Amino acid sequence: MEAIWLYQFRLIVIGDSTVGKSCLIRRFTEGRFAQVSDPTVGVDFFSRLVEIEPGKRIKLQIWDTAGQERFRSITRAYYRNSVGGLLLFDITNRRSFQNVHDWLEEARSHVQPHSIVFLLVGHKCDLEAQRQVTRQEAEKLAGAYGMRYIETSARDAINVEHAFTELTREIFALVRSGDITIQEGWEGVKSGFVPNVVHSSEEVTKSDRRCLC
Ligand code: GDP
Ligand code: MG
Repeated sequence: MEAIWLYQFRLIVIGDSTVGKSCLIRRFTEGRFAQVSDPTVGVDFFSRLVEIEPGKRIKLQIWDTAGQERFRSITRAYYRNSVGGLLLFDITNRRSFQNVHDWLEEARSHVQPHSIVFLLVGHKCDLEAQRQVTRQEAEKLAGAYGMRYIETSARDAINVEHAFTELTREIFALVRSGDITIQEGWEGVKSGFVPNVVHSSEEVTKSDRRCLC
């Protein structure tokens, strides 16, 4: 029987407060642009299926930092149980671009011994007239970290699908090649859901995950 989804990937979305993380997640999971009110504590999670190839679906479980970024109190568990991440800055806010490095360092220090596949996202690209970060310099920074760079707008629905799908494809390729493996006690990647069939792909395989973070 065909799997409803092959794998579940858990993703995080990080970056300075107000760069648009919650709006981007809502646009992707709910298909609309809405003002988001963050809960004061905890994390919110959202999920959606993505078809990366015909008939091949991945379930994304996307975690939002729910306001904690203002206090830099994001927990270690939030990072270490994720396989992928969108690292956002706001193209109209230079400071949020300068903070990309700090976010990456923060993720790196928390995620050991695992690693996270990141995509650098320049958000609010609908506000071209207020742009403070050029595409070229963002691409250069992403290149230096070995990441891809994509510009998105939740307001105008630009590249939102593309950003999540590209990251999902990148992770899927690493799972396929064995660079990322399912591990017991780790939430980053889970094997697929096949109705009425017990299958054994949850086996723990010992192989180092490539350090991409
Ligand atoms: P977060 O703190 O990173 O989760 O940011 P929010 O998602 O709460 O968004 C912060 C502000 O940016 C809100 O006023 C949103 O309406 C606005 N915003 C979010 N995404 C976009 C976008 O793509 N374009 C524009 N112009 N504004 C956006
Ligand atoms: Mg938010």
